[in-house]
Amino acid sequence: MMKALYNFFLSGFDDAAYFEKQKASYLFYIILSALSFLLFITFGQIYFDNGPLYIWADFIAIAGTLCSLVFFKLKKIEPAGHVMACSCIVMIVLEGMVGDRLFNDPGMRYRLYITMVSCLGIYFLVVSFFREKKYLYYYGAAFEIILFAHAFLIAHQLRNIEGMGLLVWQHFITVSAGMIIIGAITTCLLSYMEALFQQNQEYAARFKLQNEELEKMVHERTHALRTSNKHLSEFAYIVSHDLKEPLRTISGFVTLIKREMDKMGLDEVVMEEYISYVKKGTRQMEQLINDILTYSKLNVVEKRLDVVEVHDVMAEVKTSLAKSIYESEAEVLVTDTMNVRGEKQLLVQLFQNLVSNAIKYRHQKRTPQITIGCVEEGKMVKYFVKDNGIGIPEKHFDTIFGAFRRLHSKIYYEGTGVGLAICKKIMDIHGGEIWVESEENDGSVFWFTLPNAQIELPAIHPVVHAA
Ligand code: ADP
Repeated sequence: MMKALYNFFLSGFDDAAYFEKQKASYLFYIILSALSFLLFITFGQIYFDNGPLYIWADFIAIAGTLCSLVFFKLKKIEPAGHVMACSCIVMIVLEGMVGDRLFNDPGMRYRLYITMVSCLGIYFLVVSFFREKKYLYYYGAAFEIILFAHAFLIAHQLRNIEGMGLLVWQHFITVSAGMIIIGAITTCLLSYMEALFQQNQEYAARFKLQNEELEKMVHERTHALRTSNKHLSEFAYIVSHDLKEPLRTISGFVTLIKREMDKMGLDEVVMEEYISYVKKGTRQMEQLINDILTYSKLNVVEKRLDVVEVHDVMAEVKTSLAKSIYESEAEVLVTDTMNVRGEKQLLVQLFQNLVSNAIKYRHQKRTPQITIGCVEEGKMVKYFVKDNGIGIPEKHFDTIFGAFRRLHSKIYYEGTGVGLAICKKIMDIHGGEIWVESEENDGSVFWFTLPNAQIELPAIHPVVHAA
């Protein structure tokens, strides 16, 4: 029983150390309550004949106190106060009824007043617990004094009634014992509440400190990340820019060599083939450098998303891909467009990458058919670019969006593996998602979400990505 009670209290604390500190006082109050209860029952039995309702009234008050204790345990402060107050009011009413019948004395008024004051005291105490911590013990002490005064006054009233004799003191002990039970439980409850309160206070202080430290750390790290990203972008820009220079030289001189060879009549097939490899290599390198440059420029972006007419974007994409559309005889069908919020040039790049992939990864036995459309989805518009190409195995659905991830050798399909990584980054900047659904040999559908132009958005903050 004691163990169960102990566990009952203990489980209310997140930190067992707080309960340990209070253990002695809890035990003291619990033992005091038990002894008082025994006294109450013993003398109450004798007194019972004279006023059964009176005994029940005190029982109700005790039950109410216990009930509110359970509510406290569940951290429901308001109901605890209400239960306490209601049980005390019932006690007052019952005692009043008995008092009228039993004592027929206007002095009874006092004890009713006192009871009422003590009830209000508890109620106020319970409800205001979290705000008025330092008054807890004063309230507790005052409450017990009032209870004793209450018991004493009743005994005093009974003394004047004829034939009460010994019963006066029996009553005093009974009521005192009953009051001690309530007082002890209440005090126990108060110290429990205070310990909880202290624990909350300490937790709050600890959390606040930790929060401040964390915020400081996040701030420092963000700053470091921004600086490092900026440096990295600058570095990538300079490196790729400088790399282009020698490439141009190589390409220029290879062209010159070829021209000289033609003049000298040295147009051997092998030489031609070797030179074509060099030219292909330089072309691929140039493409790679361009892609890296685009990718690195997207690292730090400070943009405001404006209304973009996707219809215009599609027109630009079709113009820039006109040559490959014509050569591959691809059919590009735009079924639906909705205006979105975004950065127009980035969106041109996004659609261009997806449409050019749809053409590049076409099926050898089918005329490429590319469909572009959209569906409204609340705050976002869901766009798709669908093709009837070679498709993508399911296990690569996520990996293809990483930089330099390619599924095919350059012998079959030229490329750098950066195109979809750029698309992913553009989606990050727009706060959208991109994913793919595909069946091998059947075709692929690239889905992505963009902010709906109908919805007003706050200005976009600088987006900083870890490189
Ligand atoms: P790449 O320059 O190689 O095209 P991407 O990042 O654009 O680089 O694409 C990554 C890989 O995803 C490609 O190598 C290809 O294997 C696959 N892929 C992309 N788009 C398609 C598509 N429409 N159909 C089939 N495979 C695709």
